[in-house]
Amino acid sequence: MKKIISGLTAGVLAFSLTACGKKSDSNTIKIAYLPITHSLAILETADELAEKTGLQVELVKYGSWNELMDALNSGRVDGASVLIELAMKSKEQGIGLKAVALGHRDGNVIITSNEINSVEELKGKTIAIPHRQSSHNILLNDALLKAGLTTDDINITELAPTEMPSALAGGQIDGYCVAEPFGAKAISLGAGKVLFKSAELWEDSLCCGLVLTDKFIEKNTDNAKTFTESYRRAGKNLTKEKALETAEKYLSQEKEVLELSLQWISYDNLDITEESYNILTEKVKKYGLSENPPSYADFVKNDF
Ligand code: ZN
Repeated sequence: MKKIISGLTAGVLAFSLTACGKKSDSNTIKIAYLPITHSLAILETADELAEKTGLQVELVKYGSWNELMDALNSGRVDGASVLIELAMKSKEQGIGLKAVALGHRDGNVIITSNEINSVEELKGKTIAIPHRQSSHNILLNDALLKAGLTTDDINITELAPTEMPSALAGGQIDGYCVAEPFGAKAISLGAGKVLFKSAELWEDSLCCGLVLTDKFIEKNTDNAKTFTESYRRAGKNLTKEKALETAEKYLSQEKEVLELSLQWISYDNLDITEESYNILTEKVKKYGLSENPPSYADFVKNDF
């Protein structure tokens, strides 16, 4: 009996050593994303990095922001391309995250049914956003304000991005604002039109950010730096042609939808400036997304 116990103990010990001794491969960085045009810079980075350095990006695709945030908050991934407001909310709640770059600039539209011709006509209508913590919510508030309206004057509903074009076509909602190419999709279906482009409501608007966990940055500082530098370069390389190529490879959307959508977005300057971040935090407070968003110094790491 004693021998069996010893054998078992040895086995457990050997297993524990293997489990502890097996360091995670620090030359692989796991990044979560959603298949949207707002994530193209990270998709492009994954392609370029593998060719040019030994650093591998393992892309982990999610179907919704909530699933992606679960993975990020619980440390199952090292970082994500994510709605910056969602990451700010996690930071506010004590999760160790830093935003190291933007996902894109501009790139959102407010889509309405073809019958709606002005923002005043949104009164009493049902408008969808992907999540309360989003620039889509902020842009909708900005649009309503143009007519002296607030979100109290409309019905807001949260829907998954993929469901929005068909919900508009079917008349369940009257409009929406969401990550692309789902706005362009409604146009191609003939189900709706652009009421506003984001630049008409909020110049140089922020939306998605590239965030890394503090744990990854602390343990793999050099790789985090190499990765972020490559990411910025990949953004600069995303001309309209290159963006279309990358989008066709990863997003399973029709070419004409992607071409239209890519007219509204840019990737060439992905720096998060203090000025643009402060405008974001003012809007976050003004429209009730958060009373206490993280400060630029606490949340943004701009020295990579
Ligand atoms: Zn975005």
